[in-house]
Amino acid sequence: MSKKELVANRECGECNLCCISLLIDCPELTKLPGIACENLKKSGGCSIYTKRPPTCQDWYCQWRYIPQLGDQWRPDLKGIMLSNMLEGVPEEYSHKEAFDFKILKDTSIINDQDFINVLAAFIEQGYACFISTGKPGHASTKIFLNDYLMPAVSTKNIDLFKSELLTAIEECINHPKEKMAIKDGKIIRL
Ligand code: SF4
Ligand code: SF4
Repeated sequence: MSKKELVANRECGECNLCCISLLIDCPELTKLPGIACENLKKSGGCSIYTKRPPTCQDWYCQWRYIPQLGDQWRPDLKGIMLSNMLEGVPEEYSHKEAFDFKILKDTSIINDQDFINVLAAFIEQGYACFISTGKPGHASTKIFLNDYLMPAVSTKNIDLFKSELLTAIEECINHPKEKMAIKDGKIIRL
């Protein structure tokens, strides 16, 4: 997506989660996931803003692109960072956008009815949806949700939807995470 498609008059404000949560591995900057970037100021904001790498200039979470997601979907408020999935999308879903709902808090997110409604709507509309969970300095775990949740979406069974989603979130959280490190300016898996 290009910057032209950003939602008008929507700003990151106090949020700086992409400068903490994301793994960045580009020639100008290497950063482990879940660990604040060395250029992130304590007061928030980027200390090299005008010279920040192209990766940082070009990347926005999907809350900045999707007008239907209300203000409450700003990641630091919602506890979820929604981003595009560019890899690992099953072939049958590859003609549409795919989304990763990165869970930034615990399983209590299951009680967020707004999250449930948006996720169910995305799945019903045929978008590939994943959840992911992370741990500082470790590769995140991702789970493809459509196969899990489609039966509940098709039958509009909200209790089944929540119970299947909770199982997926727990599985994602409990899955062993691979430790990462930076060696010679490159990200390596230990
Ligand atoms: S996670 Fe989204 S809202 Fe937060 S700083 Fe990054 S782009 Fe902005
Ligand atoms: S260089 Fe700046 S914009 Fe990029 S991750 Fe670091 S603090 Fe954020």
